[in-house]
Amino acid sequence: MASTLSTQVTRHCVEELFNTKEEERMRRKLCLHGLLPVNSLVFKRTHKGDPICGGCGEQEESIEHMFFQCSKAQEVWKMAPLQWDGLREQTGNFQAWWTALLEATCRTEGKEHIELTVNILWQLWKRRNEWQFNAKHRHPWKTIQKAQQEWQEQKAVQSKQKIFTEDAVRADEKVDPEEARRNEIQIRISTKVQDQTNRVGMGIFASTFNNQWVAAWALIDRKTVHQMQSTAEAVKMAIIKARHQQWKEIVVHIPSPQLLKMIKERMAKDIKMATLIDDINDLRSLFQKCSFCLDRSLDSRCEVISDYALGIFQDEEWINPQCV
Ligand SMILES: [Zn+2]
Repeated sequence: MASTLSTQVTRHCVEELFNTKEEERMRRKLCLHGLLPVNSLVFKRTHKGDPICGGCGEQEESIEHMFFQCSKAQEVWKMAPLQWDGLREQTGNFQAWWTALLEATCRTEGKEHIELTVNILWQLWKRRNEWQFNAKHRHPWKTIQKAQQEWQEQKAVQSKQKIFTEDAVRADEKVDPEEARRNEIQIRISTKVQDQTNRVGMGIFASTFNNQWVAAWALIDRKTVHQMQSTAEAVKMAIIKARHQQWKEIVVHIPSPQLLKMIKERMAKDIKMATLIDDINDLRSLFQKCSFCLDRSLDSRCEVISDYALGIFQDEEWINPQCV
């Protein structure tokens, strides 16, 4: 399935790609490339750790090295069911490669191929994290299989969503539910436990109603006896951060139904949890609106940040200057 790319820059195609709702998941992943904490970036930022790639041990781990140049990445690409021969010259610069990739929406099955490619990139990153944090080396074929499997699942979800969206539009053409939620900041959290170091990495990600990122935090904390307690700590920290930003309306996405129940009913089994639940409810009153919703879907941006947090020694914050 080797393909070459049209050199025509077709802005329309890119816009179309980003306009469709079903590409949202994909776009989210793309946003990540600026944030992916590869070793060389972490080293530059913190002067700690090792800038060298943990996969091959030969070169500094940049985004380009991790995705394309590393022998570990190349063994995966060799097994991929599609190739981007026309993009080979761009692999020295991820941004350029990415832009060129998006232009391929106009080729036959372009959109499908891009989606699969994004999944492969994502799995390359996950595979890298396996050796970086857990010293596990996944077979390249497994990586390709996983990318293909997720791609198939996404396609199935997309076709269902399409039917659902069309029905919803027909049923509710007058009221725009987004209108009422325009000022709400959506806050998502993720926690990652690292047993060897007894540390918990927390990722907090804030975005607007239309999924534009506003702020993100990587926080490091000590491991607690129960995972639920770490999640509750992360929720509390997220609300404190939101308060510092002077946001008035927030929606906090809670990944655990038990925790959501505890917050709503102000019930907890032990004193630590009871204190946390009280704190969360007290902080809540500082906002015009602070609601909680159940969200079990793991947000890839949050996951990246909580992974990243395990490698830092001091909390970090990113604020989107366009949203201040
Ligand atoms: Zn390498």
